[in-house]
Amino acid sequence: MARTTCTDRVVGAILASWRYDISGIHQEMRKDYEQHFAECAHCRGRQNFHRSLDVTLAVLTSLASFFFLFALAVLKHIKPVEHMAFNVFGLDVADTYHMLISAGTAGFCFSVIALALVLTATPVPKYLGGIAAERARLLEERLPAAIKALRPR
Ligand SMILES: [Zn+2]
Repeated sequence: MARTTCTDRVVGAILASWRYDISGIHQEMRKDYEQHFAECAHCRGRQNFHRSLDVTLAVLTSLASFFFLFALAVLKHIKPVEHMAFNVFGLDVADTYHMLISAGTAGFCFSVIALALVLTATPVPKYLGGIAAERARLLEERLPAAIKALRPR
């Protein structure tokens, strides 16, 4: 990725300032940038890198939310933590329980906020929607003609 250089430095700098996201640009104005992506391997690589970074962030924040929720569910239903708190650390059961519940709730809130920020600040929803639409189109092309005929148009 670092070995290639941009074929048009001006367009490359504009695209870099947008994090190589042209999904928010009007269709008419997008053509030049799409052509640049088609011609320039450097910018295409950077665009792929930034979109994978966005998707990774979205996946990590959703996983964090899920695990904090899971931790809260575990605290609610299983209480082996109490024995450990008593015997090993010599902590008060109720205090430890409240501390863990607070930590789990705070963690869940922060990861949901982080996920919301990732989904609003990055083009992840459009990007994933585009991939899903593309896959659906490819699947539909592979369907036998008999099944295609059944689908309402
Ligand atoms: Zn370029």
